[in-house]
Amino acid sequence: MKDHFDVAVVGVGAAGIGALRRLARTGLEVVGLEARGRVGGRAHTLTTAPGFPVDCGAEWLHSADHNPLVDPIARAGFTVDRSPPHWMRQAFNQHFTPDEQRAYRAAFDALDEKVDAAARIAAKTGVDRPVSELMAPGGRWNPPLDAFSSYYNGAEFDCVSVVDYSAYQDSGGNWRVREGYGTALSHFADADRIMTACPVTTIRHDGPALQLETPRGALTARAVIVCVPTSILSEGRLTFAPGLPGKAEAAAGLPLGLADKVFLQVAEPEGLPVEGHLFGHIDRTETASYHLRPFGRPYIEAFLGGRCARGLENEGKGALAAFALEELGQLMGSDFRRGLSVLGETRWAHDPWALGSYSHALPGHAPDRQVLAAPVEERIFFAGEATHATWYSTVHGAWESGERAADEAIAALG
Ligand SMILES: Cc1cc2nc3c(=O)[nH]c(=O)nc-3n(C[C@H](O)[C@H](O)[C@H](O)COP(=O)(O)OP(=O)(O)OC[C@H]3O[C@@H](n4cnc5c(N)ncnc54)[C@H](O)[C@@H]3O)c2cc1C
Repeated sequence: MKDHFDVAVVGVGAAGIGALRRLARTGLEVVGLEARGRVGGRAHTLTTAPGFPVDCGAEWLHSADHNPLVDPIARAGFTVDRSPPHWMRQAFNQHFTPDEQRAYRAAFDALDEKVDAAARIAAKTGVDRPVSELMAPGGRWNPPLDAFSSYYNGAEFDCVSVVDYSAYQDSGGNWRVREGYGTALSHFADADRIMTACPVTTIRHDGPALQLETPRGALTARAVIVCVPTSILSEGRLTFAPGLPGKAEAAAGLPLGLADKVFLQVAEPEGLPVEGHLFGHIDRTETASYHLRPFGRPYIEAFLGGRCARGLENEGKGALAAFALEELGQLMGSDFRRGLSVLGETRWAHDPWALGSYSHALPGHAPDRQVLAAPVEERIFFAGEATHATWYSTVHGAWESGERAADEAIAALG
């Protein structure tokens, strides 16, 4: 294996794959260094025991009508499913009457408007706030609104910046890949240019060439594109010598929230609507959102986020699944509960190369995305979902950030 490259890409998730593909068009000598034994990072599809694929991480092509990955994925032969998402429905109106659903939606829209108004004020005053300050004190719909935030941001609204939340752009189109988003994404990674099971521990930038230290030895590069999650930088799992404290601080301002999934096989799926949905409880934040029979397959995908998911992960393996089983039993009855069996659960906070699910800006920290994205010495470039100003937390945002960082590196190397 060569040990000197023009560009080394550290971390081969969506951002790293996007960067590598852009760099492949040049004559530059390029390598991707990936800590895991696989590429794709937080976009990962697994095949379950019954034989259908499930996405453990990213699943939805958000902003689908603008998403730069839709066309390449479709052209590569994957099946892009354009049916509308399930998440505002309540199957059988179970424990959630149509009137209540309308009232909840109105509260949801009202909060969105308040957030945008507060962001406009913040743009003039420079003063950011947590989204929770805009919620009606003691408001009836605060618990499900916070539960929504725990899925959407991976954190409750008290930890979410108004400015950053308002900056996120979502066109409202949400499509899926039948074979799995993770499978489709990894199709675009060129294995010949990637070393897996090769974590980078330190990037030395005190000499004429950059030196990247890995347990498999050191290699050098003229430029490096850092595509690791913010948690890896803020926890010091990848360091720089000399240190770059501004980057670690920016990464800490953009922590990874937590979202986890539980996959439950249904013995008699016929009684459940295809692409149905159930809100768990509407009177509490510690609840899950349930996607019933995705693609008509015989399973339920439970989605848990924020403090609820974190607490359950900390209880140990199986706690997320036990929570989902119990809540579904309360919603649908014990007979229904007996027909469910656990196919698997994710534990993203305990994944050593992610330490969480997706980034959100802490109140006052929206500008950290720009700080994190800025190059150092015109040879250390930064990408990853957290560096995208408007499509953060997504695969397509990560991908686009990788392309942006690759263009910066190409320009710097002439
Ligand atoms: C449960 C869940 C649901 C989600 N749902 C969606 C969704 O529906 N739609 C959507 O668009 N997005 C979704 N996301 C978010 C999306 O998965 C991420 O935003 C995106 O995949 C991030 O890509 P990335 O390249 O920035 O980071 P990552 O995918 O994390 O890639 C970074 C890579 O760096 C590697 N790495 C870490 N440290 C080192 C090191 N020291 N040396 C070398 N390599 C290292 C990691 O192993 C990883 O492969 C979801 C995420 C989760 C967890």
